[in-house]
Amino acid sequence: MPENQLGGQQVLYLPEGATRLLGRDAQRTNIAVGIAVANAVKSALGPKGMDKMLVSDLGDITITNDGATILEEMNVEHPVAKIMVDIAKTQDKEAGDGTTTVVILAGELLRGAGELLEQGVHPSTIIKGYKIAAEKASEVLHETSKKVESSDSSILQKIAMVSMGSKNVGSDDTKAALSKIVIKSVEQVMDKDARGNAYIDRDLIKVEKKAGGTVGDTTFISGVLIDKEIAHPGMPKSIKSAKIALLDLALEIEKTEVDAKIEITSPDQMQAFLQQEERMLKDMVEKISRAKATAIFTQKGIDDVAQHFLAKSGILAVRRVKKSDMEKLSKATGARIVTSLDDLSEKDLGYAGLVEERKISGEQMTFVEDCKNPKSVTIFIRGGTQQVVDEAERSMTDVIGAVSSVIEDGKFVLGGGATEVDLADKLRSYANTIGGREQLAIQKFADALEIIPKVLSESAGMDAIDTLVQLRNRHRSKDGTVYGVDIFRNAIGDMNKLGVYEPLRIKEQAIYSASEAAEIILRIDDMISSKGKGPAGGAPGGMPGGEAD
Ligand code: ADP
Ligand code: MG
Repeated sequence: MPENQLGGQQVLYLPEGATRLLGRDAQRTNIAVGIAVANAVKSALGPKGMDKMLVSDLGDITITNDGATILEEMNVEHPVAKIMVDIAKTQDKEAGDGTTTVVILAGELLRGAGELLEQGVHPSTIIKGYKIAAEKASEVLHETSKKVESSDSSILQKIAMVSMGSKNVGSDDTKAALSKIVIKSVEQVMDKDARGNAYIDRDLIKVEKKAGGTVGDTTFISGVLIDKEIAHPGMPKSIKSAKIALLDLALEIEKTEVDAKIEITSPDQMQAFLQQEERMLKDMVEKISRAKATAIFTQKGIDDVAQHFLAKSGILAVRRVKKSDMEKLSKATGARIVTSLDDLSEKDLGYAGLVEERKISGEQMTFVEDCKNPKSVTIFIRGGTQQVVDEAERSMTDVIGAVSSVIEDGKFVLGGGATEVDLADKLRSYANTIGGREQLAIQKFADALEIIPKVLSESAGMDAIDTLVQLRNRHRSKDGTVYGVDIFRNAIGDMNKLGVYEPLRIKEQAIYSASEAAEIILRIDDMISSKGKGPAGGAPGGMPGGEAD
């Protein structure tokens, strides 16, 4: 018999001050926390969603409409709240957009589960039903989604606009211009995987930002923008048709770790010693000029003397460049990163039409642009204040995610809640074919999906119930499944005509992640917290406006 078992009875020794919640109490509390977290982000959904202002301990202000950011900045403490934050992060990573949606959906699945639990349905039945429903939903999504070619820029543009639509980044014209920039960037870095499918490494699109100007001044750079100045004032500030060397080495004389003592007894010796050092540095620079490089970027430092020699040879140099930027420079210019100068030859060099230092809002930045077919590019975001550029950056990364997902999968669905109403409808019919109590869970799943059109219509000031009833009726009529919430006309409308398109992946990932989160949370029937407060407190720690309803 294991020592913690007495006559089949499990014995747990709890630390002093620990609290414990069991069975239904644990489930009830956790469900309430999950719903509270969802409520905290609800008002941010969609183009009419409101922004939240979050103030950190240090007084830093974030103004955002981004679900993942809101949750992250809220610093939630309750373990269930953390699970909700995690699904927003997963959504961000997998689909690049849809973070508010996934959290709202998870909250609603929990609410439905709570109702079933009260009716005496066992958690494992609910979990099973939710799993079946998620599978079926994904199947229906694939059937109803439409195909798009990566070359179809008009559809990509619509998807980009919808993704950007929910964040306040400027006028429609600005949004259209930004969408074009994102599409161009994604197309530029697009690659094919081993099976010949389109593949996009989103990290190859550098999003750089600097407060100043307006969001409309945001530009596409066909290369990499480095937030660093040129090392020495004597170096050229601008080089056309630059031949670029990328170095992962210091242009300095290595000071060895060993404590060496050099005994210098006369001024001549001192002179000789310095000359020796100078000669070594000069040698290094000569190797660079011999390779015919006209601009160098190094991850490490450059000694003052070496800078002087580089300047004399007319070579532009930037030092202490981040590793991630070095990799991007390599992808953009075609240069190989060299770790020893003895290896450096002309064939290691990359090319950029222009390398130039420019002063942006009082700070020097180095532009490496006009690269030939660069496999890494930059979107340089401008905007009136730091908050504006920060939110524009979040928006741009969402759009990069959305456009990349749709190019990789080649499939999109309708937004504005149209897809959710359709899925709910089909899941309800499907539920009737499933015997047993799982049927009840599938029905709850269908109800939960309808939270999206409900919240969207609420955000526009429409009556959520009326809108939902209209949508359900419309969906049952011929060709009615294209109907969703026309947020800007406060009515239901044809999402196809309005061009409200979203990547299939956003919806599919949201459905899977939300039901997974609900499952994890429902499985818990014993919560032990060694902290005095902990889960028994019921309220999610440190959450503004996180009241359960
Ligand atoms: P998320 O963080 O989940 O992406 P968003 O704030 O971006 O949240 O809102 C996305 C939701 O808004 C989706 O359901 C999408 O279909 C809807 N939406 C976006 N643009 C429109 C529009 N023009 N009309 C109706 N619904 C829209
Ligand atoms: Mg979005």
